[in-house]
Amino acid sequence: MDVLKVHPRGYCYGVVDAITLAKRIAKDPNVPRPIFILGQIVHNRHTVLELEQYGIQTLDGGQRIDLLDQVPDGATVIFTAHGISPAVKAKAAERGLRFYDATCPDVTKTHVLIREKIAQGYSIIYIGTKGHPEPEGAMGEAPIGRVSLVTTIDDIQNLSFAPSQMLAIVTQTTLSQWDTQNVIDALLTKYPLAEVHNEICLATQLRQEAAVKAAADVDMVVVVGDRRSNNSNRLVEVVEKIAGKPSVRVESVDDLRPEWFSDIQYVAVTAGSSTPSHITREVVQQLEAWGKSTDFQQG
Ligand code: SF4
Repeated sequence: MDVLKVHPRGYCYGVVDAITLAKRIAKDPNVPRPIFILGQIVHNRHTVLELEQYGIQTLDGGQRIDLLDQVPDGATVIFTAHGISPAVKAKAAERGLRFYDATCPDVTKTHVLIREKIAQGYSIIYIGTKGHPEPEGAMGEAPIGRVSLVTTIDDIQNLSFAPSQMLAIVTQTTLSQWDTQNVIDALLTKYPLAEVHNEICLATQLRQEAAVKAAADVDMVVVVGDRRSNNSNRLVEVVEKIAGKPSVRVESVDDLRPEWFSDIQYVAVTAGSSTPSHITREVVQQLEAWGKSTDFQQG
């Protein structure tokens, strides 16, 4: 079996910056303790465990505004790379908490866009994943009644905006670019005058395009990523739907099963932008032990 390593893969600049900021805060003796992160800093449990070693506690499992209630007075709170709604920031400020914002600049760009469009009189149709923190933060920039979430084409029938309304279609940063285009096309059938702002970030686009291109030359693609990582799950999806090749997501080397590769001659390995490189390296090394390896650069 030949193992092909896909480039680019793994951590993007937004994730690297967020983790670097969190570690810098943890090392600063002047920062009030304890230190919390509102949600997983990125959706990867290995990264969460690493930050625990720095004394940073992750609060998880609910809306950011409710998680904030678990932060005691006088403590420090870090907002994640996924972005945060203004209501959460305001609540943290009201409580006098020390807070730091690790929001990725690409997500901040979407927040600014939504604010501008709302100020110009538009309402927002936000294409994103239900229950994911990024839509929660970005949609929080718009007043209730001026923003609706669409995840699939089926959701469009529930939209109650009038066709004559000023509408802006805005997307989450980590979606499948192919699926999103289908949703946008369906939205434009219902709302032909809507403005389209595709906010899928470059890191997501490049990883998806490289995975699809590499998939053409292999029998199977292994994606390394956490089950909650939107961009990792989308990589599996685009390989299967766009390249028409089988794909499997593993969280670490422990998930690999040799029997998956019994009939495989060529396998490609990629990783979501929230996956630490050492986790991917272990997966590659195990696959290399079962075969040999080459590098694949998109372009
Ligand atoms: S995937 Fe894109 S939006 Fe998300 S942190 Fe990375 S660069 Fe930023």
